Amino acid sequence: MSLILNGKDLAEKIKKELKKEVEGYISKGLRKPALAVILVGEDPASKVYVKRKKEACEYVGINSLSFNLPESITEIELIELIGKLNGDEDVDGILVQLPLPSHINTQNIIESINPDKDVDGFHPLNMGKLATGMSSGIIPCTPLGIWIMLKHYKIELFKKDVVVVGASNIVGKPMSLLFLKNEEATVTVCHRNTKDLKSQTTKADILIVAVGKPNLITEDMVKDDAVVVDVGINRLENGRLVGDVDFEALKNKVSAITPVPGGVGPMTVVSLLINTLTIYRKKHGFSVHPLTEI
Ligand code: NAD
Repeated sequence: MSLILNGKDLAEKIKKELKKEVEGYISKGLRKPALAVILVGEDPASKVYVKRKKEACEYVGINSLSFNLPESITEIELIELIGKLNGDEDVDGILVQLPLPSHINTQNIIESINPDKDVDGFHPLNMGKLATGMSSGIIPCTPLGIWIMLKHYKIELFKKDVVVVGASNIVGKPMSLLFLKNEEATVTVCHRNTKDLKSQTTKADILIVAVGKPNLITEDMVKDDAVVVDVGINRLENGRLVGDVDFEALKNKVSAITPVPGGVGPMTVVSLLINTLTIYRKKHGFSVHPLTEI
């Protein structure tokens, strides 16, 4: 039986610690940390994600400020709002829920966020800091959550082969950069044009899959003692939520595996809280948040 990497329980434990941390700031007479959450349009999945993020903020004592904007908002209007929030001393982090409607250029929006308030870590400056190994940058939430989970479960990285399937800017790429930071593991990144995916994944001591295709990774594509992290979120026709990995076939084969749901998802949300507090701590002269020390 594989070890189940239980992101849900770990996220709950970390949230309790963060709640105490925030109580500590308030007892020192500091203001509450604040996160501005911008949602454009009516995408049902985005609404659910935003709701979860706001609930998590409330639980730990972070003030979440909601900006629910109509689908018809223009790029300029959105940039104006972000500009106001950039200048608001009482706002620590700014989150723009993706995806945005197609008439809005996502990259322009990401670049309009003050890098010091870029709680998702998608701004080119923060991505650049991650790429060059600078520790003060904010780390994108999903890779940070996975990193914290691997550390919590004491997954050894030194001289291991890590294979990341998926090379998006929000998961695959920053995840690979994080693994490279300390030059412990050797990282291979696969994507839609990888010639022979199986020949890569079967090499992995640690396999991270972030594609968005149910059952992309089958039992024959994974080594017996691998650690498997499934980032994918796919809603099947019968309503069931599954990842990219054949969990049922692998759960008795590999050494450790994340479930979907209850694996990476809750760790992503908790990392958003950590990033908000990282920004807040910097503003108030505290040291780097211990959970982001890589
Ligand atoms: P994306 O669509 O931006 O990128 C997908 C990547 O997969 C691309 O690099 C693409 O080249 C690669 N790919 C596509 N088909 C492939 C194939 N057959 N073989 C190998 N690689 C292939 O997606 P994303 O935003 O990175 O999200 C990926 C998945 O992770 C989605 O299911 C998304 O919902 C999920 N996700 C989950 C969380 C979480 O917190 N659990 C967070 C972010 C994304």
